[in-house]
Amino acid sequence: MTARLVFAANWKMHLGPDAAAQFMRVYLQRHRAAREREIWFFPPAVSIAAVAGVTRDRSDIRVGAQNVHWEAKGAFTGEISVDMAREAGADAVLIGHSERRHVFGETDDETAKKTSAVLDGGLIPVLCVGETLAERERNETVAVVHRQLNAIGRLDASTLQRLVIAYEPVWAIGTGKTATVDDASRVHRAIRGWFGDRGVAPRDVRVLYGGSVKPANARSLVSDPEIDGVLVGGASLEPESWAEITGTEVD
Ligand code: PEP
Repeated sequence: MTARLVFAANWKMHLGPDAAAQFMRVYLQRHRAAREREIWFFPPAVSIAAVAGVTRDRSDIRVGAQNVHWEAKGAFTGEISVDMAREAGADAVLIGHSERRHVFGETDDETAKKTSAVLDGGLIPVLCVGETLAERERNETVAVVHRQLNAIGRLDASTLQRLVIAYEPVWAIGTGKTATVDDASRVHRAIRGWFGDRGVAPRDVRVLYGGSVKPANARSLVSDPEIDGVLVGGASLEPESWAEITGTEVD
C-alpha cells in the first residue's frame, strides 16, 4: 500500500475558536491541495468545530482531537468522549502524546483503553510513542517504544492496521533538536517490525515522525521511505510556516 503522506498539526493549547478560524482563512488561501498528501489538524477541543466547519468539502484534510476519555459518558469533569469529538467534527484522536504521558501522568494502560475506545467509535487513533533523553542515552529507545506498543498488543492484525503511529522522541519535542533521518528511520523500522510480528505487513502501518519539524527539515524527513509523514507542534501554529511544511516537495 502506498499511503498518502500525512502532515499533521498538533496545536496543543493554542488557537481558540476565533484564532483557529482566522488561521484557516489564511492557510486555505496559501495551501495548494495535492493528491499525494493529507493534512490533519489537531486543534484544542473547543476549536475542532471551527476547523471542521471550513474543511468539510476537502477530502485531503482531516480534523482530530488531542485527547479523549475512554468512557462514553459520566462524571469525568474536564474530559470529552469519543462521540463528543466525532460530533464536533473529529475523525482521528491523538493518544499518549508525550505531554499527556509526562505532564499528566498518562500510563500505557490508559493509552490502551483510549485506543480501544477510539477504534470502537470508528475514529483513527494516532498513538504517540517515544523515549526520553535518559532512555535514549541508555540505548533503550527501541525497548521503550516496543513497551509502549505492547499496551495495544492484544488487538488483532486487522484492527492494528487501523492505527497510525507517531514516533516522537520526548527530547526532540519543542526543543529544536530533531532526530536525524537515520535515527528516525531506524526506530520506524523497529515499529514496523513490532507490527510485522503481529501479522501486519510493514507497509500497512503508517508511521509519522514528530519532534521539532520545521520548514527547513521537513523535506529530508518525508523523503525517507520509512517516514510516512510528520506530526508538528510549534511550526504548525503560523499559517505561513504550516503552508510551507504542507507544501514540501518530496524527492
Ligand atoms: C508535538 O507536539 O507533537 C511536537 C512534535 O511538537 P514540536 O514540533 O513543537 O516539537
